[in-house]
Amino acid sequence: MNDPMGALGGAMSAFFSNAVVQLILYATFFYMILLWIAAAYWAFRDMRDRTENPVLPFLATGLIIMFLPFFFPFGVVVYRVVRPPERLGEVYERNLAEEALLAEVEAIKTCRSCDRRVDSEWIICPWCRQRLKRVCPNCERLVGLDWSLCAWCGKDFERPVVERVPEATPAPLPAPVPAPVPEAAGSVRGVMPRPVNAIAPSKPFAGR
Ligand SMILES: [Zn+2]
Ligand SMILES: [Zn+2]
Repeated sequence: MNDPMGALGGAMSAFFSNAVVQLILYATFFYMILLWIAAAYWAFRDMRDRTENPVLPFLATGLIIMFLPFFFPFGVVVYRVVRPPERLGEVYERNLAEEALLAEVEAIKTCRSCDRRVDSEWIICPWCRQRLKRVCPNCERLVGLDWSLCAWCGKDFERPVVERVPEATPAPLPAPVPAPVPEAAGSVRGVMPRPVNAIAPSKPFAGR
């Protein structure tokens, strides 16, 4: 009974003392350590892509390190379960897509009165007769109803002109100003006509 056991033990020790077998064992061991470190580094980078929190990548690395070179695959499984589902780049792209979709929806023109879809080049709603746009009298291109001037040719529309009239009234004021000057001159000259009128009553004067 002892002989087979001794023979087996001898064979085992001979097998593990074989230089080639030892080399393979060492190589496997170092490879596992390499994989362990690589997995920790992957977890660090992966977490950094998924969160802006500066601490979480180190926690992910610590999780992989904690499982030691031989059990770290379990750590990788745990990490994959608890990590944020989306990368920051994916979140950014999704937000961009949502914004683009929103802009597209907002770009769809609808009649402000009846809410039906209208073409951007229509000037009037064919269903409710709501004015949608008008034609610039200068360049004959379509302009918005609320534009204060034509974006195509720069022509000022009536409304701002009406608004500027009261602002322009101070400018014409100098025109009336010279008017009083002739009045003042007239007043001076008024003395002159008086003698003309006085010529008539000059006789009464003379009479006096
Ligand atoms: Zn309408
Ligand atoms: Zn115009």
